[in-house]
Amino acid sequence: MSVLYVVGTPIGNLQDFSPRAVKTLREVDFIAAEDTRVTQKLLNHFEIKKSMVSYHEHNLRERGEMILSRILAGESCAVVSDAGMPCISDPGEDLVKLCADAGVPVRVVPGPSAAVSALAISGLTTTRFTFEGFLSTTRKNRLEHLESLREEKRTMIFYEAPHKLPATLEDLKTFFGGERRLSIARELTKIYEEVRRFTLDEAISFYETQKPKGEFVLVVEGKPKEEEEKLTLEQAVEFARSLMTQ
Ligand code: SAM
Repeated sequence: MSVLYVVGTPIGNLQDFSPRAVKTLREVDFIAAEDTRVTQKLLNHFEIKKSMVSYHEHNLRERGEMILSRILAGESCAVVSDAGMPCISDPGEDLVKLCADAGVPVRVVPGPSAAVSALAISGLTTTRFTFEGFLSTTRKNRLEHLESLREEKRTMIFYEAPHKLPATLEDLKTFFGGERRLSIARELTKIYEEVRRFTLDEAISFYETQKPKGEFVLVVEGKPKEEEEKLTLEQAVEFARSLMTQ
C-alpha cells in the first residue's frame, strides 16, 4: 500500500507552485488530474514527465475505485485539479474519503486556494468565516441557500462565474440588503488582479457599466452586530445614584 497526495496547484501565477509540490509530482507513480490537458501544461513548465489518469466529477466513481486499487497495489498517486486546492469546489473529496476508508495514508502538499486568498485581502473580518462555494444554478436551491445565510454573522465566501455575477449580486442584495459590504477579488495572482470593496448597491451599479471578466471571489461581511443598546438618560442617572449610595 502506498500514499495519496493531495497537491495544490497555482490559481494563476506558476511561481506559486512550491518546490515540494514539484518534487511530489516527480516522485509519485501517477497523477489523477481533473483535466489532463491543463495539468500537462503545468508538467511541461516544470519539466515533469509523468503518466496521468483523468479524475473529474463525471467519472469519479469508477475512476476512484481504479485509483484506489492501484494505490493498494503499491503505487503512489497525486491528485490535482485545474487550479488551486483539490477538494475545494473541485474533484478530490470522494477520492480522499475512499482512500481514508481503505486505510490509505492521505497527505497534503498545500497550495493556494482562491477562497482564503480573497478573504485575506478583503479587509473584512477574518476571525470567523464560512465558505459557501458556488450558489446553485437551480433557482429554488439558490434561494434556500441564501435564506439559510440571512442571519449569518461570519464573513461569507462565494465563488462565481463572471456572466452570473450581476444576477448573484442582486440575489445577495435581496437577502442581505443593499448596505451590506463586500469585497470582490478578481484574477488573483494574475496580471489583472484587483480587489474592489463596496456595498452591494455600489457593486450592482458598478457592474451595470463594466462587463465582469475573469475569475471572481465574493467575500461578504456577516450580519452586522445589532447596535449596542444605549443607556437611556434615566438608566444613566439611576446607575450614578447607585454608585453614590454604595
Ligand atoms: N479549487 C479551487 C481553489 O482552491 O480555489 C477553486 C476551483 S473552482 C472550480 C473555480 C472558482 O474559483 C472560480 O470560478 C473563481 O470563483 C475561483 N477562482 C479560481 N482562481 C481564481 C483567481 N485566480 N482569482 C479569483 N478567483 C478565482
